[in-house]
Amino acid sequence: MAMDSAVYVDDIREIKEQNPFESMMSRFDRAAQLLDLDPDLYAVMRVPNRELKVYIPTRMDSGRIQVFEGFRVQHNFARGPAKGGIRYAPDVNIDEIRALAAWMTWKCAVVNVPFGGAKGGIICDPQQMSIGELERMTRRYASELLDFIGPEKDVPAPDMNTNEQTMAWIMDTYSMHARHTVTAVVTGKPIALGGSSGRREATGRGLLFVINEAIKRFKMTPQQTRVVVQGSGNVGGIGAKLLYEAGYKVVAISDVRGGIYNSDGINITEALNYLQATRSFEGYEGVEVVSNQELLELECDVLVPAATENQITSQNADRLKCKVLAEGANGPTTAAADQLLHEKGVFVIPDILANAGGVTVSYFEWVQDRMGYFWREDVVNQRLEDTMVASFNSVDTRTAAYMLAIDRVAYDTRMRGIYA
Ligand code: NAD
Repeated sequence: MAMDSAVYVDDIREIKEQNPFESMMSRFDRAAQLLDLDPDLYAVMRVPNRELKVYIPTRMDSGRIQVFEGFRVQHNFARGPAKGGIRYAPDVNIDEIRALAAWMTWKCAVVNVPFGGAKGGIICDPQQMSIGELERMTRRYASELLDFIGPEKDVPAPDMNTNEQTMAWIMDTYSMHARHTVTAVVTGKPIALGGSSGRREATGRGLLFVINEAIKRFKMTPQQTRVVVQGSGNVGGIGAKLLYEAGYKVVAISDVRGGIYNSDGINITEALNYLQATRSFEGYEGVEVVSNQELLELECDVLVPAATENQITSQNADRLKCKVLAEGANGPTTAAADQLLHEKGVFVIPDILANAGGVTVSYFEWVQDRMGYFWREDVVNQRLEDTMVASFNSVDTRTAAYMLAIDRVAYDTRMRGIYA
């Protein structure tokens, strides 16, 4: 199946391959060039709208204060409030957050939900922090962002190492200052606090819907399709489980410590229960042990990198053996790998489409909060499927997805006269 046709080798050589912002920008530039984007619009759209850096003094359990550094990048508001997750990790940096914020803008535009893009993060090691420390840090971070977030301004959500609990704390901190409960300030909340049915599974379910569409193009059925999944968290774990339940043969899965492989297929429900109980796939019977790098190069039909960035690079792209690459993570493929995948004829479902199920149901959550009326899970799932299938059918390459997204954002920017 077609990948993007143009070769931009000279540009690729100059890209600092592992920098997600450079990866995102080289795809943006390519699509903008093909669209013949007006230079004024190009100048506006290639930079974020706002970048905040905050310092977060937090009382640790020892009684001492530790000052954490946090960010929130609001990339674009042309189509509505900014939207995007908050990530806690020791290696979070502004370039990564900036890239993730821009990806949110393009992702929301691809699935046509009325949001711009944002992303936030705090440099911290959540594995080393107690629940009380995490709560105090999160509430202080939310207080620093009070003037900048809100249902009409910027709506955070969970990302790596943040979850429903984190969102509940942010919602409560915001509500304390507003003097009334404002559920629509964040998405990914617990269902009892204004969350949406189906949100937790939405990104994995969205992956299932686009993979269903992709294999039809190869005239394959789920039963004939071998899938390899990297990552077993919200996206990889739930995605693998839904694929398994739909009849796909999931032959390998991993977490950060490594993976397991069986060419006859793995019972994913059992394997994930084992992982949950023992916190590792180590010792799981009837499988071969593989490293995360080996896993990416396994013989399969669909490869789903659903862990983290920069997994498929110029160093390993030519060794991939999949027909379809369904990008569950954000930025799992570097721009330098794009051309190699194209030469191999790999059909890429780009991240800004493949993992857009999460933001689609976040949009549904925001709508339900504002209506004060909640939908049944089958209604959520059906609306998600409609959105994912329609979006899949409107783009068939990474560049096409960027072009559609940039065109939508550019149209709204021009009509509003944002750069006047
Ligand atoms: P998660 O923390 O729930 O799971 C991450 C998984 O990846 C875990 O199994 C972890 O062990 C594994 N992992 C982490 N680092 C790894 C590494 N270096 N090598 C191999 N495995 C590694 O996170 P998640 O929510 O599933 O997010 C995964 C990716 O999907 C991220 O890129 C995130 O931005 C993206 N994403 C998430 C959502 C969502 O709704 N959760 C939506 C869109 C995109």
